[in-house]
Amino acid sequence: MNSAVKIHPAVDNGLKPAAAGFSGGTLSCACASHKVEVSVKGQCAHNHVCGCSKCWKPEGALFAQIAVTSRDNVSIVANGDKLAVVDANATIQRHACEECGVHMYGRIENKAHPFYGLDFIHTERSSEEGWAPPEFAAFVSSIIESNARPNNMGAVRTRLVELGLPPYDCLSPALMDAIAMHTAKEKGVLR
Ligand SMILES: [Zn+2]
Ligand SMILES: [Zn+2]
Repeated sequence: MNSAVKIHPAVDNGLKPAAAGFSGGTLSCACASHKVEVSVKGQCAHNHVCGCSKCWKPEGALFAQIAVTSRDNVSIVANGDKLAVVDANATIQRHACEECGVHMYGRIENKAHPFYGLDFIHTERSSEEGWAPPEFAAFVSSIIESNARPNNMGAVRTRLVELGLPPYDCLSPALMDAIAMHTAKEKGVLR
């Protein structure tokens, strides 16, 4: 096993299984006091580790861990006044704590986007156990843009496979298919 390669603290010691009937949890930011808290109802979907340079990552992690849930499941329950959108021009509006920098949820406001209606969440910000674990690694090559060493990419991909996280340099085939199906329906190619 190549455990010297650290991917993300939530997966480095192996994936934790989802709990049956998991009812959700509360995400907290990293502030010592007056934490921003966001409640998420129900189980997450499509959890994965992400190598892009936009997702929030814990200090020192190569990848972010990120999942989706219906936007209706997400509500701010404490200190929402500390939240600000990181980049108003980005497709995903990432609402972050201005004090500690943790992204609390990412929301798509463009109704034509294939993932409209889904919010992006970092389940490791919750103390509840039983979230569905990551299923794959997205945007693996992009970690180079965040200063990962190019000559270590083989070891990173090997470790991801060991952990049961198939590495992709975009999203997983299922999600890329979902995006293409949305586009094909818009074009009238797919009915
Ligand atoms: Zn904070
Ligand atoms: Zn990302």
